[in-house]
Amino acid sequence: MEKYWSDLVKQLRPYEPGEQPWMDGVLKLNTNENPFGPSPKVLSAIEGQLGNQLRLYPPPNADLLKQAIADYYGLKDSQIFLGNGSDEILAHVFNGLLKKALPLLFPDITYSFYPVFCQLYDIDFEEIPLKDDLSIDLTDYEVPNGGIIFPNPNAPTGRLLAIGEIEYLLKANRHSVVVIDEAYIDFGGQSSIGLLTDNPNLIVTQTMSKSRSMAGMRIGFALGSADLIEGLERVKNSFNSYPLGHLQIAAGISAIEDSDHFKDTCQRVIHNRAKLTIDLEELGFSVVPSAGNFVLVRHFRASALKIYGQLKNNGILVRHFNKQRLDNFLRITVGTTEQNDQLVTALATILRS
Ligand SMILES: *Cc1c(COP(=O)(O)O)cnc(C)c1O
Repeated sequence: MEKYWSDLVKQLRPYEPGEQPWMDGVLKLNTNENPFGPSPKVLSAIEGQLGNQLRLYPPPNADLLKQAIADYYGLKDSQIFLGNGSDEILAHVFNGLLKKALPLLFPDITYSFYPVFCQLYDIDFEEIPLKDDLSIDLTDYEVPNGGIIFPNPNAPTGRLLAIGEIEYLLKANRHSVVVIDEAYIDFGGQSSIGLLTDNPNLIVTQTMSKSRSMAGMRIGFALGSADLIEGLERVKNSFNSYPLGHLQIAAGISAIEDSDHFKDTCQRVIHNRAKLTIDLEELGFSVVPSAGNFVLVRHFRASALKIYGQLKNNGILVRHFNKQRLDNFLRITVGTTEQNDQLVTALATILRS
């Protein structure tokens, strides 16, 4: 009952994730899951964990997974932080590194979890409007701030910033933490990981949910200077010592090791994104150039909410955001060739009627 809630909880407006229907036969193009699935090696690694050792707590620092990620990206294991999905990592980053006297800066159109974390942790923030073409202009961020965060490529626009622009921002902003949320970087962007050496105030967050096709495993990681990572470890160890279980640790190590499967499936997403973009443009959609595994589209004539509803009636879920500047767009996850064809065929019928 509400009367037992704290004042904070009474005011919370939680993040609303995309629908996860339990029925079979729904084509889910609404939460940017990867259609190609994890490496087969991940599945056997998980099976290898299904024994009596599940009675034991997992290693609290998941050292072997840290080491695997550090080796893969050419960093030290003291530069890696792990979490139960990158959402949990972001929560610790907001709490531990972005709660300052000056406001945190992020774009007005971006990952809608950011303002929720600000509310949860009572962090002052300022939303910087995207340009009319939905791009981020980093010169807008050269103002006093308590931190800066944005995804690259941005979500839900898909627009990518070049590494040189991020480097410039880091040079202009030495006094607070800059977080680059790279949930989608593996689908064609250049990672900011290479900027870590010269920028001790940079944190890069990544996830195994999208490019490594393991949204159901909840594995996220952050990369940064040993100092920043130590700060995050202090928050984590004041919250939950064991965010990753045995199954997650084994799955994560295998996913990092099978770089062939990873690169091959990312390449397929990139290929399918290009084809889907052309098909949608032929139907009269304008498509924001995307470096993610999704496209943000708007039709020159038909309303986005109507198309969303009609697709849903056809068993196809896409994402509609009930938010200013976005409510005439749809965000569509890139699927397999067959899934994208099913979507395009359904859209052609809807738009003809
Ligand atoms: C999906 C997503 C995340 C969170 O991913 P997890 O599944 O929690 O690892 C973080 N940031 C952005 C921009 C995302 O789209």
